[in-house]
Amino acid sequence: MRPLTVLSVTSEIFPIIKTGGLADVAGALPSALAAEGVTVVTLVPGYPAVLKALKGSEAVHRYPGFFGGTARLLSGRAGDLDLFVIDAPHLFDRPGSPYLAPDGQDWPDNAQRFAAIARAAADIGQGLAPGFIPDVIHAHDWQAGLVPIYLSLAEGPRPATVMTIHNIAFQGAFPAYLLFELGLPASTFTVDGVEYHGQIGFLKAGLQHADRITTVSPTYAKEIQTPDGGMGLDGLLRFRSRVVAGILNGIDDNVWDPATDTHLEQTYSRDNLNARVANKAALQKRLGLSQNRDVMLFGVVSRLSEQKGLDLVLAGLSSLLSDGAQLVLLGSGDLILEDSFRAASIAYPGQVGCLFGYDEGLAHLIQGGSDALLVPSRFEPCGLTQLCAMRYGSTPIVSRVGGLADTIIDANEMALAAGVATGFQFSPVTLSSFTDAVARAKTLWRDREAWQRLQHNGMSADVSWRRPAKQYADLYRSCLPT
Ligand code: ADP
Repeated sequence: MRPLTVLSVTSEIFPIIKTGGLADVAGALPSALAAEGVTVVTLVPGYPAVLKALKGSEAVHRYPGFFGGTARLLSGRAGDLDLFVIDAPHLFDRPGSPYLAPDGQDWPDNAQRFAAIARAAADIGQGLAPGFIPDVIHAHDWQAGLVPIYLSLAEGPRPATVMTIHNIAFQGAFPAYLLFELGLPASTFTVDGVEYHGQIGFLKAGLQHADRITTVSPTYAKEIQTPDGGMGLDGLLRFRSRVVAGILNGIDDNVWDPATDTHLEQTYSRDNLNARVANKAALQKRLGLSQNRDVMLFGVVSRLSEQKGLDLVLAGLSSLLSDGAQLVLLGSGDLILEDSFRAASIAYPGQVGCLFGYDEGLAHLIQGGSDALLVPSRFEPCGLTQLCAMRYGSTPIVSRVGGLADTIIDANEMALAAGVATGFQFSPVTLSSFTDAVARAKTLWRDREAWQRLQHNGMSADVSWRRPAKQYADLYRSCLPT
């Protein structure tokens, strides 16, 4: 196995800074890839949380003028992650979200902020950091989209590039007048370059110029090549379909382990599922629900956005809650959805409990205490919460889209008879098919043995990074010169 060095470029990384699944992926892949002979160093922006987490750092380069200020490229470690960090206070020394100002709007200089990480990545690819030249640069999402084009403009040998789409809804398009400021010559502003509907498209540029394109599930890899799923980029992706691949995400099975999870009231394994009742009770207590182990408890852990289809949960609430069933929701995002769920918790006291905000511990308790996890997404590149749910014995009820289609085996007659079902799928993403799936789940839940079989199957599934890491390692190797 030839050793390989990869520079991973990401705008968020677990456990340091996270707004969604991208952080989980960026945080977990390096150690999973180590087992495949791949050394990963990750380049991240120097947000306050990153600088705080960085240990034993040294400056490996100083940029006197870098997108409007001075910057240093630091090298160091945070936990078991090897990092390069761009310490550029004028770009990253800001409180809160990596992308949004406190008023909820995008930071006005997001183009410069994320062009900066792509620029630094390309420079590292060209030998900026002494002793480190990556074989491959792995660019994640639009924030790293300019890496391949910056590299294509440079002289001399360059690393291979892999561009991963974690969610094609986020494309990073900025006004054309920024071209010069971003260090892009006018010659790049073409349909084969960065131009995207008259703007500079960061993701578009990455997809155009990367050696390989991946996304996070095989089904999503197909969906994004259709007009419905491609959100404007389907034509380009069809054109490049020979280099497009779908590799499922995994989850970090050390972080997500019900046998050792300190966020749980009671740890357990698939051999003592009855211990989960203590978590159900703790969850009910924490969210003000009636203490009753004999009603079905549904959970949601999600960003609140149109994508996640949670309006179906609201619309189907009366049938969901019939027979005394309960719902807990942990989420943040869209304020109208927040208000609607808040109103639901008032309308159904003791049956609906919500927490709005980000709470890692409660996310774990919901997985460990709920009977079923609802993921009714309109589209879902991979989805991680259904993987966590499987590992924790909370049965996923999911729409049949993207990675949800690829990871859950529906409890239809044959799958039940063959003993392989892990959850419930519904399609199309409509209220009636959602409520049908919920009704099927409720029926099966009453059959204790059948339900436990579902839980067992889910908990026995390999949702770790081992298989995906091998696929990434093979992909990296396949794009190197032989
Ligand atoms: P997306 O990346 O689209 O938000 P994923 O399912 O891929 O969705 O990843 C979501 C990740 O974020 C999961 O690890 C989930 O547990 C976590 N998560 C989502 N919302 C919250 C929240 N409010 N509090 C804690 N964790 C959350």
